[in-house]
Amino acid sequence: MLRALFLAAPGAGKGTQGPELADFYGVPYVATGDMLREHVANDTALGRAAKEHMDSGGLVPDSLVVEMVSNRLARPTPLAGFVLDGFPRTLNQALAAYEWGKDHDRTFDAVISLDVPREELIRRIQERQRLSGREDDDLNTFRHRLEVYDRDTQPLIDFYRERGILVEIGGTGSVAEIQQRIHEGLHEVGLDVEGRGDTGTSVVDAAR
Ligand code: AMP
Repeated sequence: MLRALFLAAPGAGKGTQGPELADFYGVPYVATGDMLREHVANDTALGRAAKEHMDSGGLVPDSLVVEMVSNRLARPTPLAGFVLDGFPRTLNQALAAYEWGKDHDRTFDAVISLDVPREELIRRIQERQRLSGREDDDLNTFRHRLEVYDRDTQPLIDFYRERGILVEIGGTGSVAEIQQRIHEGLHEVGLDVEGRGDTGTSVVDAAR
């Protein structure tokens, strides 16, 4: 069972590689951005509290996100495996995740960072905005999201490197090439977890 998370700047490809990896290992893909957007769409109390932070490209307060994720990972029983995308994004969230993992015997096996140059991120986001029309993908908001990433999330790279579970992957190239690097990277850190080997059937939607 794989318990991995993606740690990378917005636009680096987490949302492309995350579901693929989760599908390969047959574990749920848990993306906090998707979950929050769903709350906003359903106009829940959490959605209303999160919306303005999301629209401005800032972060939703730690306490709200931690509660949302721990509910998701614990329901109905603590998930044995998962691929997390977009969480943790702050040191406080990482510490909360660690405590949750210790309490439930579910600490992370691997933290996958995807390294993509700034110019490439900006190029990709302009493309994504054209296709998705996501409000927080407009260029100014996106630049703010990058600043927030540098300030609040980037320090987690060292946090996980010190714990010996960081898998650093070059995030440019074709989707298949990056996918291959991720599998090799997991292998190199001794994660010989058996994948299902077929990427055809999606468990992603069922898991959401
Ligand atoms: P994403 O789809 O991962 O880029 O997330 C979209 C937006 O949701 C982010 O810009 C944040 O406003 C919010 N968000 C997602 N995950 C988190 C998190 N772990 N902590 C705080 N805010 C988050």
